[in-house]
Amino acid sequence: MSQRGEIYRRLGVEPVINATATVTILGGSLMRPEVLEAMRQASECFVDLTELETAVGRRVASLTRNESAFVCGGAAAGLFLTAAAVMTRDVPDGVLRLADLSTLPTEFIVHRGHRVPYLSAVELAGGRLVDVGASGEATVEELESRISPATGALLYVAGAHLAEGAVPLDAFIAVARRHDIPVIVDAAAQIPPLSSLWDFTHAGAQFAVFSGGKGLRGPASTGLIVGEPAGVARCVANAAPLQRLGRPMKVGKEDLIGFLTALELELGADEAATVRGYEAVVASVVAWGAQRSDVAVEREFPSEAGQPMPRARIRFAGALAGQRDQIMADLRGGRPRIGVWPAGDDGIYVNPQTMLEGEDALVCGRLGEILSARAAG
Ligand SMILES: *Cc1c(COP(=O)(O)O)cnc(C)c1O
Repeated sequence: MSQRGEIYRRLGVEPVINATATVTILGGSLMRPEVLEAMRQASECFVDLTELETAVGRRVASLTRNESAFVCGGAAAGLFLTAAAVMTRDVPDGVLRLADLSTLPTEFIVHRGHRVPYLSAVELAGGRLVDVGASGEATVEELESRISPATGALLYVAGAHLAEGAVPLDAFIAVARRHDIPVIVDAAAQIPPLSSLWDFTHAGAQFAVFSGGKGLRGPASTGLIVGEPAGVARCVANAAPLQRLGRPMKVGKEDLIGFLTALELELGADEAATVRGYEAVVASVVAWGAQRSDVAVEREFPSEAGQPMPRARIRFAGALAGQRDQIMADLRGGRPRIGVWPAGDDGIYVNPQTMLEGEDALVCGRLGEILSARAAG
């Protein structure tokens, strides 16, 4: 066994301690060894991919308490496919063809505050985003006023951090129901809690989409669509391995097995214990900060994606407060390389979700060195 990280270093790419979040740009999450072993076994033989996709979908649906499920190439692929599925709801074969766009319901109504950059995946399918709540506070009346025969779906991006000013999800779904229009929930980063896997669909959303490579710790190139069977069937009709518009978002046999294995492991794990582990890391960073006069550290809740779990907020004191960006650059450029999330303009967040055992001490130690050197210099 070579040393951890050597596979990257031989290319001149130094690994990064991820104290940021399950961000794709740093690799999402780390798969458990059991997931990798399952993927290795999946790589040992050929299989009918459609048959496998169907079987995995059936098993995932049952595990996630949904009627139907489809493992796709990331949550963004899930947005693309569900957009295709709602626009083609009156197309007999359910297949999206770009030439037909002018006759399809292509408008997706979304809160102005929910316009995360990922929604370009909806536009990729030919959808057009229509804002509601541009003034800050959205109302049911405003939402209803946007609905027309051109409406493809109402789109909701989940997360406590995005809820302010938005029509609450229950009321949002009730409006859609009244007009017989589907709701798509982007819940990409809403695990933990695992209950997100069924909460949105049980609340009446036609679809919810998730990342496979964030909280589920599956392959970064996977995602999940859950929802009602006819809609999921239209997602399938537009997805790889068929030669349809979704073909560029292919999911291989190893990824399908890797996703399923990761899901089984997460559902079997003790989520409360996981969150207690996050609390312990945050508490250790708070305790480190209490020893120093150049930082103020506090536990903050919820997470960057509005999930019910904590992170540590570190504020730099005195002259260091104005050096936040340089401190982040020092963390990123030193050894070990450390990635963190900015907090306000005078601090950073240390997020336990993606940190390995012992990395809290490494991060605090390195940060302490940087702060002391800057104060001396
Ligand atoms: C991460 C994320 C996505 C994209 O997920 P992928 O699995 O990387 O495609 C979409 N929406 C939101 C809100 C996200 O956080």
